[in-house]
Amino acid sequence: MKGDVSALAPGVIVKGVIDWERRYRMMRLHTASHVIAALLYEKYGARVTGGHIGPEVARDDFDLRGVKEWKNALKWAVEEANKIIKKCIEVKVYWLPREEALKIPGIVKLADKLPPEVEKIRVVEIPGIDIQADGGPHVKNTCEIGELEIVRLESKGSRRRRIYYTVKP
Ligand SMILES: [Zn+2]
Repeated sequence: MKGDVSALAPGVIVKGVIDWERRYRMMRLHTASHVIAALLYEKYGARVTGGHIGPEVARDDFDLRGVKEWKNALKWAVEEANKIIKKCIEVKVYWLPREEALKIPGIVKLADKLPPEVEKIRVVEIPGIDIQADGGPHVKNTCEIGELEIVRLESKGSRRRRIYYTVKP
């Protein structure tokens, strides 16, 4: 948002406009992050330890401890992700009662952080690839992501191997 939001008094009527180009790129990158993370978790048991999504570039940190060839692991993940993305898989978004959602393997680690008063959980599923409790914006079909490209790989210590990636315009 542009302008000084703090200057606004409570109750003031504002008009919001979505910068669609910016948002759509973030939706594409964010959906891509699910695919990359799912692949690295499945093959290496690597958890995401941090991340950030911007309109140009996204980054994620993975705990790839014990993986000597971590750069190759990250390159592999992007190659595989591109293959999956091309399959045009529909991304499903739905709500589940907390108890039911917690039974889904892989969702639990995130759900632990949910305040107990949260009764319904928003689930984002890329069938056959990934399922997460998630409030973020995603594209409806993996085809919309387009082609992923690695921008840079960085080591931030053995527990933090960082990947910067983007999607072709
Ligand atoms: Zn998400």
